[in-house]
Amino acid sequence: MTPRVPYLSARLQGFGTTIFAEMSALAVRTGSINLGQGFPDTDGPAAVADAAVAAIRAGHNQYPPGAGIPELRAAVADHQRRFWDMELDPESEVLITAGATEAITAALLALCEVGDEVVAFEPTYDSYRPAAAMAGATLRVVTLQAPDYGFDPAELTAAITPRTRLVLLNSPHNPTGKVFDEAELDLIARLCVEHDLLAVTDEVYEHMVFDGRHQPLAMRPGMAERTLTVSSAGKTFSFTGWKIGWACGPADLVAAVRTAKQFLTYVNGAPFQPAVVVGLGLDDAYFGEFRDTLAAKRDLLCDGLEKVGFEVHRPAGTYFATTDIRPLGFDDGIAFCRSLPERCGVVAVPSAVFYERPDGGRHLVRFTFCKRDEILTEALSRLEALS
Ligand code: PMP
Ligand code: GLN
Repeated sequence: MTPRVPYLSARLQGFGTTIFAEMSALAVRTGSINLGQGFPDTDGPAAVADAAVAAIRAGHNQYPPGAGIPELRAAVADHQRRFWDMELDPESEVLITAGATEAITAALLALCEVGDEVVAFEPTYDSYRPAAAMAGATLRVVTLQAPDYGFDPAELTAAITPRTRLVLLNSPHNPTGKVFDEAELDLIARLCVEHDLLAVTDEVYEHMVFDGRHQPLAMRPGMAERTLTVSSAGKTFSFTGWKIGWACGPADLVAAVRTAKQFLTYVNGAPFQPAVVVGLGLDDAYFGEFRDTLAAKRDLLCDGLEKVGFEVHRPAGTYFATTDIRPLGFDDGIAFCRSLPERCGVVAVPSAVFYERPDGGRHLVRFTFCKRDEILTEALSRLEALS
């Protein structure tokens, strides 16, 4: 969707403006309800926001330590143990980053040589390909097949070549909402061990699983020593603009990523770091209610979209639902999303942008449901114009 950008290096041609920025700008320009870019329309817990305000007032406004404040590294290690039974040394095995985005980009820059290959699943989150390109690496994708988003094990095996450096796995998966199951994780783990590959896992939606359960790849046999686990406070605490994320795993991997991070942002988010400590320490009720509230929103949106006439691929996790627009008489998601604001006053994201394969996701459109119920209801009533 992006034209050639003058001066932009050949490595980054084609990555001009992210689809999320483009669609959010379209929503503002047309006054539409924005079910495109995934960000909540209500703030996260007041206690967490108050802690950020207090931190600014208390003078936490200068460069924090490069790896993140010790209290936050300890809180991340506690969180990984509490939810996933993962044992980490907060001193050497946890790095605080400017969101998951920086953690992933820094990981690819740190871990890949020019010419290396990275295996990922398609549809692919939008930052993976440009991040690999910046590292001089290329993505090799394995397609998750709609509507269930399973994959062919032979395709995964074939995607691994002598140049493969790592597998980049996103589960729960954006945009499909797929949660990789035990058998799939076991297969990925087995191939990583067999081919001596590293893994980088993007687990930003770890607390948004409605069916099945989230399982970090790092916990599969043979994986702890080769996996960098990435997540972000932006999703779990609904403060996407704070950009506090983390990468954890073996000290050598974390040290490598820290080296790259030093020269990207150096450090980030001084007053937000103590606030996220408060968030990570919230009781189980917070995490449970967060998930249950989103599960209800998923059903509200998905039921409504089905009534309008979309074929809905109800997600097991994340705050995104994918729809097939063909039953409504459309087949080009990009054209559909471009005309949707004018037609209905709603913005959504065409899934085609997450595919490399020609015509991949052509008739699929992603809607987010991390919005107030009344906004979702209003969007659905506007979308009835399509039926
Ligand atoms: N990975 C995935 C799959 C995402 O959906 C997002 C959401 N923006 C990110 C990474 C980036 O997270 P952050 O905002 O913490 O950089
Ligand atoms: N991850 C969010 C989404 O998928 C957007 C974040 C961004 O714009 N980088 O909608």
